Amino acid sequence: MTISALYDIYLAHPSVQTDTRKLKSGDLFFALKGPNFNGNHFARQALDAGAAYVIADEDTGFTDSRVIRVDDTLKTLQALAHHHRMQFSIPFIAITGSNGKTTTKELVSAVLAAHFTTYTTQGNLNNHIGVPLTLLSIRKDAQMAVIEMGANHQREIAGYCVYTAPTHGIITNVGKAHLEGFGGVEGVKKGKGELFDYLREHKGTAFIYSDYDYLQEMSAGIPHIEQYGTTTGAVTGKVHAAEPFLTAEITGGLTPCLIHSKLVGVYNLPNILCAVSVGLHFGVPAEKIVAAIEAYTPSNSRSQLVTRGTNSIILDAYNANPTSMKAAIENFAHLPAGQKVLMLGGMMELGPESLSEHRQLVELISSYNWKAVVLVGGDFGKLDHPFLYFANAEAAAEWFRQQAFEHTHILVKGSRSMQMEKILA
Ligand code: ATP
Ligand code: MG
Repeated sequence: MTISALYDIYLAHPSVQTDTRKLKSGDLFFALKGPNFNGNHFARQALDAGAAYVIADEDTGFTDSRVIRVDDTLKTLQALAHHHRMQFSIPFIAITGSNGKTTTKELVSAVLAAHFTTYTTQGNLNNHIGVPLTLLSIRKDAQMAVIEMGANHQREIAGYCVYTAPTHGIITNVGKAHLEGFGGVEGVKKGKGELFDYLREHKGTAFIYSDYDYLQEMSAGIPHIEQYGTTTGAVTGKVHAAEPFLTAEITGGLTPCLIHSKLVGVYNLPNILCAVSVGLHFGVPAEKIVAAIEAYTPSNSRSQLVTRGTNSIILDAYNANPTSMKAAIENFAHLPAGQKVLMLGGMMELGPESLSEHRQLVELISSYNWKAVVLVGGDFGKLDHPFLYFANAEAAAEWFRQQAFEHTHILVKGSRSMQMEKILA
């Protein structure tokens, strides 16, 4: 079947699903293969659950006119997404980077949604399945699209760009994340830089944080560049206060004002400035920009502030890598005095640099005073250090329960697989 024939089917059945457990009547079911499952085996189940059609790339074991056989389901999904995307001549804003993609995406979308009908990535659906699904969720009334792109190896972002055809792009930063797959920080720069390569070639617009010299370098040659930063840029701002939430002081771009966010951590300043910059670029009125940023509340353990009795906890257990760990620890260390406890889980996907990155964190931690430091799993277990160590979050949670802390500030952070949020369970 050609993509345009499939597109007609999609137009009649625009709700796309890849998981039979979430299937609703009338959905198009794309039978994808993953490491642990093969969607083709669920074709019958999908039809029984009400799927209008099943797109499959293996023999499903039965004949039914509602089964559409293709060579490769994933490639078909991406091609369909591209075909759909090309029906729109609206801004498509792609966001990648090592840290802060989702937060930036949420802030940018909130600002744009205050003034335009905006479609965006749901949650963290930022991979080779999530990106096409996001594109296919865009409806006719769309005026803006904001797409998060995650990557852990080379050529991945370039691949998303081919079918997303972004007109605008943001690289939040280049840090020490997924070093294993990218091959070191230079590799991360190259891999994330694929977004700017695309914009350069297609005469797009980049929004860059002017404080990072490397973003200037990476964006060279892109015809339209909008800068935001703490000292230079069309939008400028600085940290006004950071306890408990970040208040940003906007000094340029908008009439000077304070933005009282519900975000924890000074590392969110560039994310806020970015949203202001995008909003202004597209003509969102200043008061709507400020109100949208102030209304955004993070969820899903992403720098969330949680209160338990007299204790306040920064729950940042959604992910961790050397750059975001350093940002979170330094931010926490510089909060006004009080009893502070660190509970940090190991960092994954760092390849040969893993041990030394964990060691550098131990050194960073040692340079501050803490009431207690608890390290959990990962390569922390392979290092000599003076801190408490537990193999997993459950054991750390048990310790935590026995402490009966009062009036204490606690930072909980670790890689997703460490499940550090269990400490608060
Ligand atoms: P993922 O790769 O899991 O999709 P992400 O890039 O979408 O992550 P967020 O979920 O927005 O990132 O934020 C995750 C954590 O990264 C935050 O809780 C915080 O610790 C850190 N972080 C956020 N913004 C920045 C930033 N601008 N610089 C450094 N660290 C940041
Ligand atoms: Mg994300």
